Amino acid sequence: MAPLLEVDDLRVEFGRGRETASVLNGVSYHVDEGETLAVLGESGSGKSVTAQTVMGILDTPPGRITGGSVRFRGEELLGADPERRRLLRGESMAMIFQDALSALNPVYSVGFQIAEQFRFRRGMSRKDAMVKAAEMLDLVKIPNAKQRVKEYPHQFSGGMRQRAMIAMSLALDPELLIADEPTTALDVTVQAQIMELLDELRRERGMGLILITHDLGVVAEVADRIAVMYAGRIVEHTDAASLYAHPAHPYTRGLMDSVPRVDDVAGAPLRPIPGLPPSLSAIPDGCPFHPRCAHAVDVCTDEVPALRELGSGHQAACHFAERFVAEGPDRPTTHE
Ligand code: SF4
Ligand code: MG
Repeated sequence: MAPLLEVDDLRVEFGRGRETASVLNGVSYHVDEGETLAVLGESGSGKSVTAQTVMGILDTPPGRITGGSVRFRGEELLGADPERRRLLRGESMAMIFQDALSALNPVYSVGFQIAEQFRFRRGMSRKDAMVKAAEMLDLVKIPNAKQRVKEYPHQFSGGMRQRAMIAMSLALDPELLIADEPTTALDVTVQAQIMELLDELRRERGMGLILITHDLGVVAEVADRIAVMYAGRIVEHTDAASLYAHPAHPYTRGLMDSVPRVDDVAGAPLRPIPGLPPSLSAIPDGCPFHPRCAHAVDVCTDEVPALRELGSGHQAACHFAERFVAEGPDRPTTHE
């Protein structure tokens, strides 16, 4: 059976001529029904641009899709009729963002905004649509949903607003939900509650879920598979357990060293990855990570490492991936 979503060798550029930035340089991933894929990386790695291209909401210009394909249940979406794309949004795939406050309109009640989908896409009356909106708020565990459905966004806490956004995104029962940094603006306790909610809804509805994040800690407990992005490429991709047990790419290892580990009672010192991600209009030759990698040798500055198979579906784009996998996770990695 075809995966729910299949992104294959996706390429996106911004700008023209010498100002061209290669934002996606051949990104491939897939999501199956009922599965959670976490897409992990620092800001500017291409996580959101990939998601926007999947959703058909990438601004073109300045963006330009220069290659690859995006298939939903086998149907090619790149180059598809805009009307078809619009129909799929909401009905088949939906997306939520970091900033729920700016995504909600301050002058309408939360319920009214959820109800609009039932009115305009399901032809319901205003009254019936509001009843459905309250049901949706109840689904995302907002207490007193029947009362709160009439309240305005500013009357909701940050966590409640994100719940309302989730309710809105699920109104038309999509098969795929993309959550782009859904908890970044929230405090740690609320983050965990939202993650738990997303995980529960995914399970109950058999949805595919893509969780985009820069924080490995946030997805540790809910991801089935993890794709790590760097400079518009996937640099490592495997199931979550293998990623934690045998991280292959020095960038992944650096990300792991820079977040507190749940199982680390002794509290090992956190080591942020030195340096910054490259500018996408000046990606370094060879391995794009080499200026920040403590293991870089001559071949790393000369040859772009291909994504290679390490067995059991584990892939990494590092010339020495096999060696790092064999070493296990606990060796000092990024800067000895
Ligand atoms: Fe580091 Fe070289 Fe591997 Fe790139 S290919 S991650 S520079 S060791
Ligand atoms: Mg982003």
